[in-house]
Amino acid sequence: MNDTATPCPICNNSNAGLMEDQTREKLYNCPRCGEYYLAFRAGSQTLNVPMHIVSGITRYHWDVYKQPFHVTVMACESMDELRKLVPFPIPGATDVRSKADLFMQAIRRKTRYLGEVMEIDSRVDCAIGFCENAHECDFCLDFLLNQDLVVKIEAPGFGCPPGYRITPAGWAYLSGIGADVLPQGFIAMAFSPKEVADELNMAGLQKGISAAGYAPRRIDSKEHNNRIDDEIVAEIRKSRFVVADLTDKNAGAYFEAGFAMGLGKPVIWTCRQTDIDAPGGVHFDTRQYSIVPWTEKQWDDFSRRLTLRIEATIGHGPLKDNRA
Ligand SMILES: [Zn+2]
Repeated sequence: MNDTATPCPICNNSNAGLMEDQTREKLYNCPRCGEYYLAFRAGSQTLNVPMHIVSGITRYHWDVYKQPFHVTVMACESMDELRKLVPFPIPGATDVRSKADLFMQAIRRKTRYLGEVMEIDSRVDCAIGFCENAHECDFCLDFLLNQDLVVKIEAPGFGCPPGYRITPAGWAYLSGIGADVLPQGFIAMAFSPKEVADELNMAGLQKGISAAGYAPRRIDSKEHNNRIDDEIVAEIRKSRFVVADLTDKNAGAYFEAGFAMGLGKPVIWTCRQTDIDAPGGVHFDTRQYSIVPWTEKQWDDFSRRLTLRIEATIGHGPLKDNRA
């Protein structure tokens, strides 16, 4: 293995190194992009996707999985191709919440004891949050500062990057956002008759969630007698979002949805059309949220609308393209 200083072909950082030079691909190490393999002929000139997105992907893959991501020419033909090959969600350009969450998770990964400070150099660590540059990185960190989720420790000397420390409120917040990649969608539903509920679950909810790229998770509430037990709470914490069906004004579904909202997780509401139409069929407090209605036997139509709602609200899930 040789380690030759060379500018990073993705982000142009001059402190990058060429670690392995093979026929088909090269292994680079970059302060911004992490370690990654770049296919022969691929490089910033040939990438049809924004450089900072590729940089964010390679950095995340290296930081989280400890494996170099393989940047191929094909992967970089379009954002659609890239999403197919990347096993985690790529935050939208203005999705400040998701980007800020990535910084929170990065600080947590580095923290060995409560109160430890992590240095963040915006010029290279912008890649942690898929940010285009240092300004955007600082913007996301300011967002966390304003919410008191982190505190900033100014650098002792000129030119040194500042440090960040997670606050007690930040730790509480992290316990809600859970693991780094959340591919699960939790289903909160329970009503009778059971046959219709099972059809709604299988042909509607599970199908719609899967098609959006997430793993549906349902705990049969019959066994739980509407109790909100530790298992349900743990599964909601592990989920990216909750789909709550309000048919029959099921108290468990309302509670689970409320719990998820308290953790800052998105909730998608569904309900039988006749319940929505009936006076008092849906609790007043949820009327302000738009609900995806369903009608018995029209499951394909419902699951398709549910998929669209999930994708519009949260984005494609990490499992989306394994199915395509
Ligand atoms: Zn780089």
